[in-house]
Amino acid sequence: MPTIQAYAAQDASAPLGAFTIERREPGPEDVQIRILWCGVCHSDLHTARNEWKNTLYPSVPGHEIVGRVSAVGSAVTKFKVGDLAGVGCMVDSCGHCPSCAEGEEQYCDSGFTGTYNGPVFGGENTFGGYSQSIVVRQSFVLRIGHPESQLAGVAPLLCAGITTWSPLRQWEAGPGRKVGIVGLGGLGHMGVKLAHALGAHVVLFTTSPDKIADGHRLGADEVVVSKDPEQMRRQAGRLDFILNTVAAPHDLNAFLALLKRDGTMTLVGAPAERHPSPDVFALIFKRRRLGGSLIGGIRETQQMLDFCAQHGIVSDTETIRMDQINTAYERMLRSDVRYRFVVDMATLG
Ligand code: NAP
Ligand code: ZN
Repeated sequence: MPTIQAYAAQDASAPLGAFTIERREPGPEDVQIRILWCGVCHSDLHTARNEWKNTLYPSVPGHEIVGRVSAVGSAVTKFKVGDLAGVGCMVDSCGHCPSCAEGEEQYCDSGFTGTYNGPVFGGENTFGGYSQSIVVRQSFVLRIGHPESQLAGVAPLLCAGITTWSPLRQWEAGPGRKVGIVGLGGLGHMGVKLAHALGAHVVLFTTSPDKIADGHRLGADEVVVSKDPEQMRRQAGRLDFILNTVAAPHDLNAFLALLKRDGTMTLVGAPAERHPSPDVFALIFKRRRLGGSLIGGIRETQQMLDFCAQHGIVSDTETIRMDQINTAYERMLRSDVRYRFVVDMATLG
């Protein structure tokens, strides 16, 4: 098996560093991709530091992958050598359970195989996009319609894009709907852009007053500093839907109170520690709902990528070298990212 350069965490407390991994030779259904850019998701940090208590070491994170096809198997019809291609959070699933049959592979009954740290339910570890190349079954590889000059900004669509797109579609963000986005980080800034592009009235909630101007620039109609009770009170009972992307435990009740009757708040943020319990009365008195959502299926990811290509939507990125990843993690923890770090994979090895 060919060996390639990668960047890995060896345990929960060690900084990430250079590491060599093996990738399989492409089989008949496989696409081999030379990785050009890899986005840095907060899930990479949760995983590298074993915050979800399920990390297999060594851990090579990275699931916002774009690159160029460097080889294809004999049965591959979707891609040819030289094409641009993307890989998100999944590289396989059972393919026949009800969720897989419906194109919702992320909810596979057997648990999908993560691009890294998968399958978490057993079996061999997988290594993600902080590496020179990856080999993936063609049905889990995405086509990219953006111009090549935008490629770095496309990478975060593979996780931050689909994780916000899927619930925005599920809960019908669009004209006439007031949609709240909580947290302006990697996911949140894509949530603002996508909800705006879908035609919703977008209200951004941020804890960072220095992000107000950016919030408007990214497409928010209103920006609320969520630490200010007076600003929060003015939004009470106004929102149809709230997408909560916050990566840390916080008071959910403050946001549930902003929903209209029958409104839903969906959590996509996955903090290591629990949120304080939601208030039952905030839910029952207005028939409100609290939900969750996990990335999105492959078909839906392709739809999102095509929509973004058509509308010229990409992530706002700060590109970094691979050896800056540990500093990038520290900055992400301080909410100091505008709005997604993307690793230039040419800087590896
Ligand atoms: P990120 O870039 O770090 O953004 C999180 C944002 O949350 C921050 O920018 C900050 O925004 C806000 N925030 C941080 N700490 C906060 C606190 N204590 N109280 C209130 N707000 C706080 O992270 P990300 O990459 O967008 O990921 C967000 C979360 O989603 C992570 O937990 C990640 O693991 C999870 N995730 C879930 C899925 C899924 O399928 N459900 C997929 C990908 C990621 P402001 O400065 O604007 O307040
Ligand atoms: Zn992610």
